[in-house]
Amino acid sequence: MRSDDSRLHHTIAQAASALAASPFSIALTGAGLSTESGLPDFRSPGGLWGEYDPMEVATLSAFRRTPEKFYDFYRQRLARLAAAAPNAGHQALAQLEASGRLGAIITQNVDGLHQAAGSRQVIELHGNLREAACPQCQWTGPIRLITEALEAGTLPACPKCGARVKPNVVLFEELLPQEAYQQAEGACRRAGALLVVGSSLQVTPAAWLPQVAHQHGARVIIVNDEPTPLDHIAHIVLRGRAGAILPPLVAALRDA
Ligand code: NAD
Repeated sequence: MRSDDSRLHHTIAQAASALAASPFSIALTGAGLSTESGLPDFRSPGGLWGEYDPMEVATLSAFRRTPEKFYDFYRQRLARLAAAAPNAGHQALAQLEASGRLGAIITQNVDGLHQAAGSRQVIELHGNLREAACPQCQWTGPIRLITEALEAGTLPACPKCGARVKPNVVLFEELLPQEAYQQAEGACRRAGALLVVGSSLQVTPAAWLPQVAHQHGARVIIVNDEPTPLDHIAHIVLRGRAGAILPPLVAALRDA
């Protein structure tokens, strides 16, 4: 075994011990977890913000001012999502929950791949791409309303009030769903261990959560393929691909 491999193996064993010692463990996931499912993240090289300007496609003002550009972005995201399936990282987290080792997953992802992998306790901080939502009258319904309108070359309209609808995701300039954030924060206060996977930890308020958990005594474990601004508060940092690290971590926990 090369020394890098043996160091990684040792660090995975340490992470497994920290999770095994915690009566209530949770995970916080970001777009990096889904890159191995073929969905680009935002900020990595090759990420969505290399191709699109977030101010033009991810803000409430962009949705209102230039809906064609906004929907061009979502047409592409929805098409990619239709072809995506959970990867080994999602599956490992679902197994952790099924074995009673993970109490909840807080996710910034809107792709629904945790649920597709079988995870049940999923707190979605940034909404989801399963639903369409009307910012005017608060109607929500299936995302099909949007995909069908785009396929027909029109912009989707609310069946209740006629205003333009958007995917039920949180845009910049919008507040997070307060109930979901409070649930997430409560879980971070209670957690003995927090496993952070595939997030640059650059977008608040989600990026505050590891600090909340840390301040309340949790051991923070960060799995990411590049450094994050919160590595200094982590008990353990595992540098690499989630799909390569999470399955051996789950296997090590089985033996712990
Ligand atoms: P991010 O793109 O900022 O970070 C992803 C991180 O994962 C990067 O540090 C990358 O190095 C790492 N990574 C990539 N592939 C990996 C892999 N296979 N294994 C391990 N690490 C991997 O994504 P984020 O942190 O989730 O961004 C924050 C959130 O902000 C997003 O999830 C999104 O919900 C939200 N956001 C929303 C909008 C919007 O349209 N409303 C726009 C921008 C961001």
